[in-house]
Amino acid sequence: MAGVAPPFPPGDYDVTVVGSGPGGLQTSYWLRRFGVQHAVLSRDGAPAGMFQRFPIFQRLITWTKPDAPVARTTREYEWYDHNSLLADEPELKALVPGFMDRAFDLPSRSEMEAGIAAFANKAALRVRYGCTWESTRYDGDRVVLATTDGDYSSRAVVFAVGVTKPWFAAVPGLEHGAHYVDAMEPERYADRTVFIVGKRNSGFELAQGLLPWARSIFLASPRPVQTSALALSPLRVRYLHPYDEYARGGPGTYVLDVAIERIDRHANGFRVVANGTTWDGRLVLDVDDVIAATGFQTPMGDLPRIGLVTVNDGRVPALTPFWESVSLPGVYFAGNASQGAKGLAKRGAGASSTAVNGFRYNARVLAQHIAETLNVRTSEQAPIADLGSFLLHELSTAPELWVQKGYLCRVVGRGRTGLVDGGVLPLAHFLDSRDGDAAAASVEVDERGAIVPTIYVRRAGEISEHLLTPHPLHEYSSDVYTKEIEHVLRQLPA
Ligand SMILES: Cc1cc2nc3c(=O)[nH]c(=O)nc-3n(C[C@H](O)[C@H](O)[C@H](O)COP(=O)(O)OP(=O)(O)OC[C@H]3O[C@@H](n4cnc5c(N)ncnc54)[C@H](O)[C@@H]3O)c2cc1C
Repeated sequence: MAGVAPPFPPGDYDVTVVGSGPGGLQTSYWLRRFGVQHAVLSRDGAPAGMFQRFPIFQRLITWTKPDAPVARTTREYEWYDHNSLLADEPELKALVPGFMDRAFDLPSRSEMEAGIAAFANKAALRVRYGCTWESTRYDGDRVVLATTDGDYSSRAVVFAVGVTKPWFAAVPGLEHGAHYVDAMEPERYADRTVFIVGKRNSGFELAQGLLPWARSIFLASPRPVQTSALALSPLRVRYLHPYDEYARGGPGTYVLDVAIERIDRHANGFRVVANGTTWDGRLVLDVDDVIAATGFQTPMGDLPRIGLVTVNDGRVPALTPFWESVSLPGVYFAGNASQGAKGLAKRGAGASSTAVNGFRYNARVLAQHIAETLNVRTSEQAPIADLGSFLLHELSTAPELWVQKGYLCRVVGRGRTGLVDGGVLPLAHFLDSRDGDAAAASVEVDERGAIVPTIYVRRAGEISEHLLTPHPLHEYSSDVYTKEIEHVLRQLPA
């Protein structure tokens, strides 16, 4: 029987999306919803991207609560389920919890992969699998991707190519070791001494996975573990176990503040020479394995050659608030790479664009922005009858605001006939814009780590910021808040 021809043959499309991980699939879903004609191509042979392989020790760090006080088909449930992709249709919502065995409220890698693949399947998202983007050029204002199957010419390209290309820190000899992506099954480290370079997510994940197997584990980097910052990170849920053992004086697990002078390879393993950073002294360690957990980068192909500006030591693209390259027009990024639009990061609180929970909302805002930029769609602006209760309701329940804290906001503006819903937008865009009087609600974090609902009012081009009093149950519907917000919103002219 002749095979079914793959979709999206090379040619002209309004938009081309590269990648079939959660970022690419979510973007394709919303582009279709907003009526944007587009092609999706991927080097992979199946959906789910990195979750077909990582996390290496098989357990996610983002939660899904299969049972919640709200139904799985509600918008509020997204707040309880940080892993499913988003959809308007009830049958496509909240697919990950249905695959969970409930051993943890953090899905396993395979449960996550199954949930994403089910989304692609049920939503009938089409992808040209086995097609690799190889190079890029401009043809007038069109972006042309040369791929293993031929050329794709588009008005805009969305790269959802992830951030899993190994990145090695500049440590002499580190290249002789393995990278996180090449780490073996934990049992292969039984009774071995393992030196892990890096004390962030992937380093602690490796150490935690090796605790029952390795003879000794060293976790090393120059800077001490920042326990106060980690207190707000999903990492602490499990991976701080090795740190806990070390901090309480347990033997065999060591969390070291050292600058590594060099790593030498010898017949039976490695010799690591390191100098203390927060203490005086020098260590010379003979170990069986060295693993670099020094991070990842976006596989940017030839984009830097044609002018892509990057951030984070060249690891991710520098992006505008709408996730467009600051230097290459029409080149957008989605998924984990959307972290290149940093937002305000006020008081040190970062966005959640590196995880599905955050970038699934970025994808919806991005798809709508592209639809409007290409004149495929103009935004619908529903009238708002009661501004105060609308914004308080959003502050109490909107998953976009609670996940993308201080990054996405809900906007209400003044239309021809009165107040209208301006939708969810990047907060950085709202604050930079001088476009009419408006108000925006955002959920933020203050200096002490408390979660603070915040209202911004833009009047005659001037922005004012108002922090509401935090509520322990995050309920902002009582009379106290109604009075507080009415007082704030009096600044908007009637
Ligand atoms: C170790 C680790 C653990 C993580 N744990 C979590 C977690 O618990 N929860 C969470 O939400 N996030 C986690 N993340 C973040 C994770 O990267 C994202 O949530 C998610 O996988 C990113 O999706 P993506 O679509 O951006 O990229 P990916 O899933 O990485 O998919 C990239 C896609 O791009 C395609 N591609 C790449 N290059 C090309 C090319 N040249 N041509 C064609 N196609 C190409 C690939 O084939 C693939 O389909 C983790 C990341 C790492 C590294």
